[in-house]
Amino acid sequence: MTSAGRFAPSPSGELHVGNLRTAILAWLFARSTRRRFLLRVEDLDRARAGAEAVQLRDLAAVGVTWDGDVVRQTDRAALYAEAIDRLGQAGLTYECFCTRREIQEAPSAPHAPLGAYPGTCRDLEPAELEYKRSTRPAAIRLRADVREYTVQDVLHGAYTGAVDDFVLRRNDGVTAYNLAVVVDDAAQGIDQVVRGDDLLPSTPRQAYLASLLDIPVPEYVHVPLVVNRDGVRLAKRDGAVTLADLAQAGVAAHEVRDLLLESLGLPAGTLDRALPALDPARLPRKPWVWTGMDRLSAG
Ligand code: GLU
Repeated sequence: MTSAGRFAPSPSGELHVGNLRTAILAWLFARSTRRRFLLRVEDLDRARAGAEAVQLRDLAAVGVTWDGDVVRQTDRAALYAEAIDRLGQAGLTYECFCTRREIQEAPSAPHAPLGAYPGTCRDLEPAELEYKRSTRPAAIRLRADVREYTVQDVLHGAYTGAVDDFVLRRNDGVTAYNLAVVVDDAAQGIDQVVRGDDLLPSTPRQAYLASLLDIPVPEYVHVPLVVNRDGVRLAKRDGAVTLADLAQAGVAAHEVRDLLLESLGLPAGTLDRALPALDPARLPRKPWVWTGMDRLSAG
């Protein structure tokens, strides 16, 4: 399989300029390294009717094109089940019956990273397991034998983060993002993952899981987010932040594209034109502050 990069939006609503900027970067990284570029809709959770079509249209409007068919996670349950079974057969999973509240209230395990699952259900006695099974459906957790793991990132260098017994399948049967993303990237031949750096802390978990599944770890590029004036990650409530909002204010999609390219220190125009100018070493490392309409009307 040829190598590929990807963009993997969750269809929870419209993409905002921060999402579009990440998509443009993912496209530029993939194309500048002669990779294919794939689009995967992460609709296991948080999917809103109609959102996918609008997202795809908006991506195309800023010049982000993709190869082949769009893949949807809801079509891939068998793949996730197979991976979880494989881990289970290797003794690497267990059933967990804890509620969120019980986890919050449990004393944390000694030396465990902050927020780590305290391991309550890790070694239940058979009778206890039997009883708990009769009370509520189980989530499936990974039986991790490390507390942290190190990944390499093109922009961040070596990054070490916590790994705990994280959830692989929720107790409502929905596959957890950390499992799905690893299985999908491998199945799609994706060996370059460019995404917002809010996901960097989850990356050691994913890379560790990949190692257990004998999956090669992709190249990671975690790019800075777009933030509002208060330095907080951009959100819909920050005003005109989607292509639809901006179009209403008289700003065309190609102008938004140009603004995003310029924010990256790249020449405005088509993405093809920006391609030769992409130099990871010179990309901005700080979040980009979206000042919205001021910036646009000023210039
Ligand atoms: N679906 C995730 C999101 O929209 C992105 C996951 C990824 O790129 O690995 O935040």
